[in-house]
Amino acid sequence: MSDELAGRDSASSSITLVLGLGASALAMVKRLREVGQPVRVYSDQPPADDTIRQRFSAQSVGTMFGDTVDLDRLLDGVTCIAPSPAFPPHHRVLARAEADGIPIVSEPELAWQLSNHHTRLVGVTGTNGKTTTTQLIGAGLSAAFGPVPLLGNIGVPLTQGLTDDLAIGVLELSSFQLHYAQTLTCEVAVITNLADDHLTWHGNAQAYGKAKATIWAHANAVVVSSKEHAVLDLLVKYPPVGEVITVDPDAFTLPIQLLGSHNRANAALAHAACLAMGANEDAVNTALVRATPDAHRMQSLGRIHGVTFINDSKATNPHAAIAAIQELTHVHWIIGGDNKGVAYDALIPWMRSRAVAVYGIGTSHEEVARAARAAGVPVEDHLHLDDAFAALTQRVRPGDTVLLSPAAASTDQFTSYAQRGERFAQLVGEFANA
Ligand code: ADP
Repeated sequence: MSDELAGRDSASSSITLVLGLGASALAMVKRLREVGQPVRVYSDQPPADDTIRQRFSAQSVGTMFGDTVDLDRLLDGVTCIAPSPAFPPHHRVLARAEADGIPIVSEPELAWQLSNHHTRLVGVTGTNGKTTTTQLIGAGLSAAFGPVPLLGNIGVPLTQGLTDDLAIGVLELSSFQLHYAQTLTCEVAVITNLADDHLTWHGNAQAYGKAKATIWAHANAVVVSSKEHAVLDLLVKYPPVGEVITVDPDAFTLPIQLLGSHNRANAALAHAACLAMGANEDAVNTALVRATPDAHRMQSLGRIHGVTFINDSKATNPHAAIAAIQELTHVHWIIGGDNKGVAYDALIPWMRSRAVAVYGIGTSHEEVARAARAAGVPVEDHLHLDDAFAALTQRVRPGDTVLLSPAAASTDQFTSYAQRGERFAQLVGEFANA
């Protein structure tokens, strides 16, 4: 199915082709039109309602929709492609653009190219802990310098947040965004850790690591943990031009409120990043001690009939789920969803040592069941979260912990990890009132 290319852009050359219809794509379109750049938008599926079409029409933006669209027509006059993260490099439009040598830029890269380059950015990436670390850095820098916005993946797209008068910002960056970043300059770069994730998108772990390393391409300083060997290896493979600041989380003794050794590591990295930006240490310390945990990340939902319930819906890969379970015992562990091509073998020892039973949900339920059987732990297989919850309420005993830390993305059964976590919290609420 194909839309007619809106006549407006067809006469132009030097068109930027934006891929997608989500928040990131819409932010790019808005910014590009603000600077007078001709824009065309493509998506595999047409928009669900007419509002977006009307908006594009009002913005003089050409559109082509449908995965049978002719690529010669789509790329006619296009000198730059700006994909949203839903488009992996092997998507036919990007593969063709790559072959034709058309530059491809992610949303933050586009934002940086269109900016005056005056903003001092702290960039944060890593497999897990990006959001938490970004928030902690934001808190530390805001305490020292006045309000510092949180940008990128965490909230406001960089194309909207990177204004000419912005002095300092903290930017959460995904591997997808870094894959297509060439000139984006983070004065201080933080990488929390590196474990397998998003292998379907990147193709393999090497490509994923290479994308992550892009964060320090232009940085004055790179902040890493001495415990993250995969990160230290990556520094050797892709040597930074800037200084490397290595922190030891065990030597970080501030009395923070966030639970778990992984959060201590996040706080230690945040502390070092703030100091590398020239922030006052007392102000930073006060802010870090005051910081409280966010929803869906090791969030305790309370103790009901002697059973503790923890919502860690944000654990969308095994590395994050292991960080959660290693602090616990007697666990009823709900696992599964879209595993993004990542195996569950790493979970087996933790199932064996920590789990009373495992509940496999979502499209990866078979992998969950296989891992649980290998661990010798009882498993209830092939469930929706609601059924898993009903099953575990029959098994739990006082002193047990119920953990939703699914080691998988939520989008096979939910709109987001937040919706998954909220449904879990609802079920816990119903259990409390039963
Ligand atoms: P991200 O933005 O990278 O997804 P979050 O801070 O939102 O990171 O945390 C995502 C998940 O990873 C949560 O389940 C959290 O408990 C876990 N997590 C947070 N920090 C770390 C860390 N340093 N190492 C491993 N897991 C972590």
